[in-house]
Amino acid sequence: MRMLSGLLILLAPLAAEPKAARAPWLLFPIDVRRFDHVSSKFGLRRLEGHRKLHRGVDLVAPAGSYVVAAREGTIAESGHARSCGWYVTVAHENSWRTVYCHLRSDPRKLGVVQGLAVPAMGVVGLVGSTGHSTGPHLHFSVLDDQGRPRDPLLALYTPKETLEVLRKMGMAR
Ligand SMILES: [Zn+2]
Repeated sequence: MRMLSGLLILLAPLAAEPKAARAPWLLFPIDVRRFDHVSSKFGLRRLEGHRKLHRGVDLVAPAGSYVVAAREGTIAESGHARSCGWYVTVAHENSWRTVYCHLRSDPRKLGVVQGLAVPAMGVVGLVGSTGHSTGPHLHFSVLDDQGRPRDPLLALYTPKETLEVLRKMGMAR
C-alpha cells in the first residue's frame, strides 16, 4: 500500500499536464473540394516585430467557397467584429464552440441567426476577407468549455478524413 501511494504521487505531475494529442471530432469547416492550404497555424507567431497568440487556424480557399459547421450545434453568435469581420459562432453539445471569421457577407442575410440549429456540414457563410485579413481565407477557432482557444488542427479531421466520414454518413459519393 505504501509503495502504491508513492507511485501515485510521482505520477500526479505527469497526469496534470497531458500532452496535447490529436483527437479529431470536427469535420473540415470549408468545402473540401475548394480548400487550398493552411496559411497560419495555431499558437504564437511574430507579427510586426512582436509575438502574438494566433487563436485559430487560417484555411485558404477561393472567395465564395462554402463555410460549413464542423459539427451539429446551435448558432450562438452571428454578426460583425473589428478583427474577425463577419463571423459566426456555433455552440456544440459538449459546450465547446467553433468560430468562423472573415466571412464574405452578413451571415444573418443567409438566415444564419442566433438560436438556429445547424447540422454538421450546414452552410454558415461564404469564404471572404472581411475584418483584419489580407486575402480570402477562413480563420477557424475552437474554444473549449471554459472559452479557452485550443489548437483546431488537433480537433479537425483532415479534408481526406472528412470525405471518408461523409461517405460513411451517406453525405458524399
Ligand atoms: Zn487567423
